[in-house]
Amino acid sequence: MKAIRGATTVGADSAAEIKESVKELLTEIKTQNALNLEEVVCVLFSNTSDLHSFYPAKAAREAGFFTAPLFSALEPEIDGALSKCIRVMVLTESEKPAKHVYLRGAAVLRRDLTNIINIALDGPAGSGKSTISKLIAEKLNILCLDTGAMYRACALKCVNLGVSVTDEEAVKIVISDINLTVKHENGVQHTYLDGKDVSEDIRRPEISMLASTVSAWECVRTKMVQLQREIAMRTSCILDGRDIGTNVLPDAPYKFFLTASPEVRAKRRAAENLQKGFNTPYEYVLAEVIKRDKQDASRSIAPLKQAKDAILIDSSEMTVNQVVDLILNKIQEKI
Ligand code: C5P
Repeated sequence: MKAIRGATTVGADSAAEIKESVKELLTEIKTQNALNLEEVVCVLFSNTSDLHSFYPAKAAREAGFFTAPLFSALEPEIDGALSKCIRVMVLTESEKPAKHVYLRGAAVLRRDLTNIINIALDGPAGSGKSTISKLIAEKLNILCLDTGAMYRACALKCVNLGVSVTDEEAVKIVISDINLTVKHENGVQHTYLDGKDVSEDIRRPEISMLASTVSAWECVRTKMVQLQREIAMRTSCILDGRDIGTNVLPDAPYKFFLTASPEVRAKRRAAENLQKGFNTPYEYVLAEVIKRDKQDASRSIAPLKQAKDAILIDSSEMTVNQVVDLILNKIQEKI
């Protein structure tokens, strides 16, 4: 018999939230463990004493666990314990190794059990981070999170509302109710702003500099970093950005800082833009890349910087495959 463990948290002690979170947790456990419900011996729940509105076991019935015996218990009040937390133990006759699932706030609980790998890939504009991280993600079968897309979406929202990205107070209002989500469809990241897929819009060349300016504000970074950490906590992923190794995930076990000469980066970015249908002259891109790096590296909050424990890779003279192989080898050496 195997015990699959899991936990999740809710934002409020409401029946609707408890039902939804338990269903989400059980669905994730079912999917990750390719669980056959016939093999489930029983499901045990416990929840912290600040939750009273609904029995987690009842939610399990609604999630399709029709036949297994279910049990819910209340945990004692313990100082410093995670609040509004629901824990589960699924006993199953399956012989497959158990994959434990910790979601939402509970993702911080048992990183040791979940085997989540996070890779930080930082570097200046046009260093090839997105290309490289997509390939690494494919090879390792993990998620790839382009964090720059999130700052670009913040800038786009300001543009759409006619708000200047240099006006901190106005940006604060925009960001306070931004509805930004990142979804992965067949391994490809889609960025949604207020329900609309803006993955193409945020790539407009004029958004780059605006993203750099808006990303310097504390209100923006706090919100984006929180979203990025939530994603990284619940799933293995490679995150590409500017401050992943230094600020978002300072404890990431694998950190890389990818760079190349400004000329090489500008050439690559101009070619990339052309592919997307934007004809931006090389000289223009070079000036913009230099200006943006300077702005990103000199801001006071979480500037573009190589983490002390990050491996530096200068890709000026390297092919994409060489960079990918180098990163994979370094990861392999540490595993
Ligand atoms: O990587 P990309 O060019 O899409 O990033 C756009 C801008 O977002 C960067 O110039 C930078 O100012 C900001 N950014 C950041 N922190 C990250 C990722 C991007 O400040 N982790």
